[in-house]
Amino acid sequence: MAAEVRPRLTVLSGPSGVGKSTVVAHMRKVHPEVWLSVSATTRKPRPGEKHGVHYFFVTDDEFDKLIANGELLEWAEFAGNRYGTPRGAVLERLDSGEPVLLEIDLQGARQVKDSMPESQLVFLAPPSWEELVRRLTGRGTESPEVIARRLEAAKVELAAESEFDTTLVNTSVEDVARELLTLMHVV
Ligand code: ADP
Ligand code: 5GP
Repeated sequence: MAAEVRPRLTVLSGPSGVGKSTVVAHMRKVHPEVWLSVSATTRKPRPGEKHGVHYFFVTDDEFDKLIANGELLEWAEFAGNRYGTPRGAVLERLDSGEPVLLEIDLQGARQVKDSMPESQLVFLAPPSWEELVRRLTGRGTESPEVIARRLEAAKVELAAESEFDTTLVNTSVEDVARELLTLMHVV
């Protein structure tokens, strides 16, 4: 019988405000060796966000060039900004046998599944719609217009949950982080 193939590329998606960044930050506090791809984005930095750490913050022209040069593994427009995964760094990590985590939107998750079918797709779901609205609003980083736009996108993302291999409900950050580490074969 063939040995089980361990999926080494894990994609974490879920509606804006569900807690993806919080879960990933907790996971990396416990296991700093887990490598998370840093995306490029045309979005402006939020207070405290650092270039090269949270994102590579680029102009529209620079993003166009990344696409034209084939430097993105996937990219998507989300709520008025573009986001993409730099291909080179991800492939290097995979080649060296390290587990790789992408935190990207639904459109990006679909592209990764198409180009790398061996990857595993994990959907982070909110305990309820009301709690999602509370978290997104409570974060206080977006204007009411942007929140409304992100909640529209959230309806589409929640409807696509069945496309994912696994769903984790973000009730407890610690529990979800542990479950994710298990899925990635880190623990
Ligand atoms: P995302 O990265 O998915 O957009 P964030 O990680 O920024 O979401 O989380 C959105 C807000 O929800 C933040 O204020 C965060 O502190 C809060 N949050 C995240 N996970 C939980 C949780 N399990 N319980 C309560 N609040 C949470
Ligand atoms: P935020 O602006 O809140 O940081 O991110 C908005 C959305 O973009 C989130 O769903 C996040 O997962 C997604 N995102 C972040 N980086 C990428 C990326 O490289 N590609 C894609 N497709 N989505 C991304």
